[in-house]
Amino acid sequence: MKGSAIILGGGVGGIVAASLLRKRLPAEYTVTLIDREENHVFAPSLLWLMTGDRKSAAISRPLHDLQKKGIEVVRGDIERIDAVNRTVLVNGQSISGDYLVVALGAALAPEDLPGLDAGYSFYDLKEAERLRGQISTFQQGHVVVLTVSPVYKCPAAPYEAAMLLRHYFQTHGAGSQIRISFYAAEGGPLAVAGQNVTEAVLQLLRERDIAYHPQHVIQAIDTGARTLHFANGVEDSYDLLVYVPAHKPPRVIQESGLLGQNGWVEVDRHTLETKVSGVYAIGDVTGIPLEMGKPLPKAGVFAHGQAKVVVNNIACKITGKGSLMEFDGHGECFVEIGDRKAGFAHGDFYASPSPAVKVARPGVRWHLGKVAFEKNWFRTWF
Ligand SMILES: Cc1cc2nc3c(=O)[nH]c(=O)nc-3n(C[C@H](O)[C@H](O)[C@H](O)COP(=O)(O)OP(=O)(O)OC[C@H]3O[C@@H](n4cnc5c(N)ncnc54)[C@H](O)[C@@H]3O)c2cc1C
Repeated sequence: MKGSAIILGGGVGGIVAASLLRKRLPAEYTVTLIDREENHVFAPSLLWLMTGDRKSAAISRPLHDLQKKGIEVVRGDIERIDAVNRTVLVNGQSISGDYLVVALGAALAPEDLPGLDAGYSFYDLKEAERLRGQISTFQQGHVVVLTVSPVYKCPAAPYEAAMLLRHYFQTHGAGSQIRISFYAAEGGPLAVAGQNVTEAVLQLLRERDIAYHPQHVIQAIDTGARTLHFANGVEDSYDLLVYVPAHKPPRVIQESGLLGQNGWVEVDRHTLETKVSGVYAIGDVTGIPLEMGKPLPKAGVFAHGQAKVVVNNIACKITGKGSLMEFDGHGECFVEIGDRKAGFAHGDFYASPSPAVKVARPGVRWHLGKVAFEKNWFRTWF
């Protein structure tokens, strides 16, 4: 039973897909994972990297380590995807498979807004380290947390960042000297999850004296005057700018013919198969419209759940054993609020007519739950 499956991307969806597929398929069937990065970074912990509660090495692992599980790991930039022939071009070489699983995530595009580089982000490892250095010496002034566009991975992350920053400054002697404002391109926190979740987060922001300004789309940044100009005519100044950049599909995806009308890879929302047979896409690279009009949020929990479904179905097709599964849109999320506490939301995002999501009261147990999840992540996949 020879053959091969190729996993594009070694982020959340990619490592789950490659590891589970390796377990489910006979040894003579090749599983290859391709990523340009040397390390897999556990993104939820970037918030703790920002606050100095984690070091980079603690939240990253070499992708090469997956070789000991029998996965072929290729490090390189995927330059072209020929979906119809299930072939990719990497390091100048063509690699073909019987199945492709596209898990290339969303690309960050800070360069789309001139002046944004005067600020700091926590959306990748190097940026989060820079931000940590900056907040450790920041003693007074106005911190602005900014989302450049309403579509970004982990809808909770910038809200968590604002609350963790508030706690950080309070416990590092600069509390009352620092004002925090949040300017959001979106209409409200975690709006896709429903009004109860939005209200719960707004209340947490109010309790922490974080001034919240929804539906403010940034138009220009005057880095000399340190002033933000929004499309609705509002202006505000900042001393420290903390931002979530615009997201877009990776360039290679834009040229792959796999994009749908919503600008992301179009898939069947239950099987994650693209319009090309044998080619699947999971995680942030996909755009899955929900009945309520917003897309399924980009989050690791969905990339993870989708990877399990795709692996099961590919393994069924190859081995003829087991039964096909469908992705059901369930997901959950911890929301860090500082002081070693977190909230928790979980629910069915495919529910009709809109997602049915419940929130639990914030407490220490949810923070400990996230810490346990992080530990378990590395133990399970590396
Ligand atoms: C600060 C922060 C906190 C978060 N917290 C949570 C959380 O608590 N819960 C949650 O569910 N989600 C969270 N997320 C979101 C989560 O990390 C992402 O949704 C998840 O990583 C998506 O998985 P993915 O496999 O689709 O893409 P990714 O994990 O982004 O992986 C994509 C991979 O593809 C590779 N790649 C891209 N293009 C190419 C190319 N051309 N050639 C080679 N390789 C390429 C990249 O290097 C990358 O390794 C958080 C994200 C951030 C930034």
